[in-house]
Amino acid sequence: MIILTQQQIAEINRHAEAEYPNECCGAVLGQLEHGGKKTAHRIIPISNRREAEAKHNRFLILPNEFLQCEKTARQAGLEIIGFYHSHPDHPAEPSAYDLDQAWPVYSYVIVAVAEGCAGNMTSWELQNDRTRFREESIIKESDP
Ligand SMILES: [Zn+2]
Repeated sequence: MIILTQQQIAEINRHAEAEYPNECCGAVLGQLEHGGKKTAHRIIPISNRREAEAKHNRFLILPNEFLQCEKTARQAGLEIIGFYHSHPDHPAEPSAYDLDQAWPVYSYVIVAVAEGCAGNMTSWELQNDRTRFREESIIKESDP
């Protein structure tokens, strides 16, 4: 499961709507606890720093972006717990491409954006054998 605050969910939704009809992507920093429970502390938007051409890379996180996120996380005493991206005019279910790009342990949060409005949000984790995703629950916490 992944724990997100209402504020973090709103940030992801806003980013997804701003990038529509392109896909947005970003990293989720936080803490990974025993039993696979993840608590989000910070949302890092990535795709809006890119050139228009790179937006067609879909949710792929480039190596330099990954390193920058790791550095930001380390400095804040956090770790990368997952990534998010949007599915413009498409359900919030991982595609075959998403499966190809996924790494174990991380959460993959997907938000569906229909006609510019963010809707259903889901989160997924790669199975140990890497053949498929399994859906995990998103626990919504109110902000402190
Ligand atoms: Zn996707």
